[in-house]
Amino acid sequence: MKNRDILVSGGGIAGAALAYWLRRYGFRPTVVERAPAARIGGHAIDIRGTAREVIERMDLVQQVLDARTGARGMAFINENGRQVARLGTDVFGPSGGPVAEWALLRTDLARILYDAIRDDVEYVFDDSITRVQQNEDGVSVAFDRGEDRRFDLLVGADGVHSGVRRLAFGPDERYVRDLNSFIALYSIETEVELDGWQLMFTVPGRAGRAGRTAALRPLAEPGKALAAFFFRENAIGFDRRDPTAQKHVVVRHFEDVGWEVPGFLPRSGTRPTSTSTVSSRCT
Ligand SMILES: Cc1cc2nc3c(=O)[nH]c(=O)nc-3n(C[C@H](O)[C@H](O)[C@H](O)COP(=O)(O)OP(=O)(O)OC[C@H]3O[C@@H](n4cnc5c(N)ncnc54)[C@H](O)[C@@H]3O)c2cc1C
Repeated sequence: MKNRDILVSGGGIAGAALAYWLRRYGFRPTVVERAPAARIGGHAIDIRGTAREVIERMDLVQQVLDARTGARGMAFINENGRQVARLGTDVFGPSGGPVAEWALLRTDLARILYDAIRDDVEYVFDDSITRVQQNEDGVSVAFDRGEDRRFDLLVGADGVHSGVRRLAFGPDERYVRDLNSFIALYSIETEVELDGWQLMFTVPGRAGRAGRTAALRPLAEPGKALAAFFFRENAIGFDRRDPTAQKHVVVRHFEDVGWEVPGFLPRSGTRPTSTSTVSSRCT
C-alpha cells in the first residue's frame, strides 16, 4: 500500500482514536503531542450513541466500564442542599440521561486510548509542528524540537485552537467563535454526601446578570468530588492559561452564591487537588 506514513498532530481523544484506526487498517501513524506525556486531565466525559459504538468496535468496552465514575444522574438542589429534582442516567432511555451510564473521567478515557496503541504507534512528545509544506508526493513538516520529516498525509487533531489549522488556513479568529460561556473545574476533598448524584445548584439570571451554576460531581474515590462552575463572561479579559487569573474569575462570579459553594472556591480552605481550568467553549 502506498501513502502509509501519516502524521497526526495532537494526542488527545481524537488523535489517539484516529491513530488506533489507522494502525488497524495497515497505516503507520505518528502522533506528535505538545505535552511531555499522554495528555490526561479533564472533567467527566459521557460516552453515548456513536461514541459507544466506537468503543465497542475498538474492543474497549471492559476498560471503559471499569473506569466509570458510578454516577447515578443529576440532582438539582436548593439553597439548603435539599434535592428538588432528579434526572437519572436512564431518564430518557438507555444512556440518554444528562449524565450517561458510561461516564468516565477524561483522564481515564485518554489513558485507555493511549494504552491501546502505545506499543504500535510512534509517539513524539514535547514537540509540535512549526512549518508545513505540501508538495507533489506528500507533506514536509518542521518541528519545534525534532528534525524535519516527510509524511504522506498530515492530520490536525490538536483541539479547538489547532496549530495545524493555523499553519494551513490562517489564524484562529477566522474559525473560532467565542460563545462567552465558561466551565471551571477541579477536584476537591469534601464531606458533602453525593451518593452517586451530581449535585447542581443554580442561581437564575436576573437584573441583567446571567445565571450561574455550581456543581459537585461524584468521583470513584470516596471523599473526593469534582467541583464545577458554569458561567458567562462577555469577553476573555484575562489570560486563559494563567491559573491565578482563572481562580480570580471563578471567585468573582461565585463568592456571593449560596449553599456550600463558597467552601469550594479556590481561595477558601478547600484545597484544589488538581489544576483549575477555565475554558471557553468555541465552535
Ligand atoms: C486537558 C483537557 C481536558 C478536557 N476536559 C474535558 C472534559 O472534562 N469534558 C469534556 O467533555 N471535554 C473535555 N476536553 C475536551 C475534549 O477532550 C475535546 O473537546 C474532545 O474530546 C475532542 O478531542 P480532540 O482530540 O479533538 O481535542 P483535545 O482533547 O482538546 O486534544 C487536543 C490535543 O492536542 C494537543 N495539542 C494542542 N495543540 C498542539 C500542537 N500545536 N501540537 C501538538 N499537540 C497539540 C493537546 O495537548 C491535546 O492533547 C478536554 C480537553 C483537554 C485537552
